[in-house]
Amino acid sequence: MTASVLELSGIHRVYRTAAGELNVLDGADLKLEAGELVGLVGPSGSGKSTLLHTAGLLEQPEAGTVLLDGVDCLKLDDKGRTALRRTKIGFVYQFHHLLPEFNAADNIAMPLMIAGVKKAEARAKADELLEVMGLAERGHHQPGQMSGGEQQRVAIARALANTPRLVIADEPTGNLDPTTTERVFATFIRMAREEGAAVLVATHNHALTAHMDRVITLKDGKIVPYVGE
Ligand code: ADP
Ligand code: MG
Repeated sequence: MTASVLELSGIHRVYRTAAGELNVLDGADLKLEAGELVGLVGPSGSGKSTLLHTAGLLEQPEAGTVLLDGVDCLKLDDKGRTALRRTKIGFVYQFHHLLPEFNAADNIAMPLMIAGVKKAEARAKADELLEVMGLAERGHHQPGQMSGGEQQRVAIARALANTPRLVIADEPTGNLDPTTTERVFATFIRMAREEGAAVLVATHNHALTAHMDRVITLKDGKIVPYVGE
């Protein structure tokens, strides 16, 4: 049997604050298979971003294991983890973090070039993604010259440029209009169904979760199926 794309087991994440210890993740387990589209819902402060950052190798838990395609990521050094993040994970942040001094096409091509793809090929892929995102005319615009929705679509194109095995999105459509939300969501569905990526999306949008394979939530720091309000 092939390994799951992502397997989180027994994840503990503690924040130490002036008010004491906050066990945000307290034995969280999650498995994502290739081609699976999973929604993560839950109130603000329930630990969604912490979970996504842990799965995306951006934060390290105090305890637990993170397997990505069967590789034990927490046993790797920083360099090893960064390499995995660049090649296997596409992370869409809640706020886009585009590089303001580069145009849209360069923002999308950048991760490909960092991964060693030649410039012409990276630019061709960027153009293709701009087209898919309905931004074909925007490649030469800098983030500051684009609307919030356009910037977020560029950020999503950037996250998908490497055709990642694992796509993680942290409330990616929170501030987008309905048309853009649908377009973004269609892209996640295509990543799962056509590219075979595992896709994990934190969202408050129940119109979107209705189309997902599974919806999960966090309860007392553990992952449980979401059964509605
Ligand atoms: P969500 O994304 O569901 O809103 P988060 O994962 O961002 O939740 O946060 C979960 C809890 O952890 C919240 O109570 C938040 O205040 C707390 N928290 C998040 N980051 C930190 C931090 N760096 N230091 C202390 N507490 C934090
Ligand atoms: Mg959050």
